Amino acid sequence: MAINSGGCLCGALRFEVTEAPLWVTACFCRFCQRATGSSGMVEPIFIIQAYRITQGRPARYVHVSAGSGREVYMHFCPTCATKTHLTFERWPDRLGVYAGAFDDPGWFDFTPENSKFIFLDEAPRGAMVPAGFTCFHQHAATLDGTPMTPFVPEGHWLAQRRI
Ligand SMILES: [Zn+2]
Ligand SMILES: [Zn+2]
Repeated sequence: MAINSGGCLCGALRFEVTEAPLWVTACFCRFCQRATGSSGMVEPIFIIQAYRITQGRPARYVHVSAGSGREVYMHFCPTCATKTHLTFERWPDRLGVYAGAFDDPGWFDFTPENSKFIFLDEAPRGAMVPAGFTCFHQHAATLDGTPMTPFVPEGHWLAQRRI
């Protein structure tokens, strides 16, 4: 498949991926809200070997997850502060891209077959899930890896209440 590239606002930091995402997670948790300044994050997950920096050098912020106590590494441009990707102490073989940093943020499939919405319990008012997508109230699995039970809302889902 074609190489898909992306970069930061100022252009100093450039990256590319050489494979399609393993899956896509759309997350409404408070971490993702703060990290994006928005209602949540669309995060295509890749095997780490599929990603490489082609220009510039990202800075890194280490965040300790309140849920797991493990470290999450947020990579960003030190000049313009655009966040480009996330890596994880818990999953060293995976990498998440801030989807909006791609030159074409719509290049990858984002369908009920390859995607899920998580942390609906923390979604801010106005957050939406299109009909047909698998959802979770919080994580899709517990800390020990036990899968949580998913649900598919009837029709489109709209967050109406405050957390
Ligand atoms: Zn930049
Ligand atoms: Zn999140």
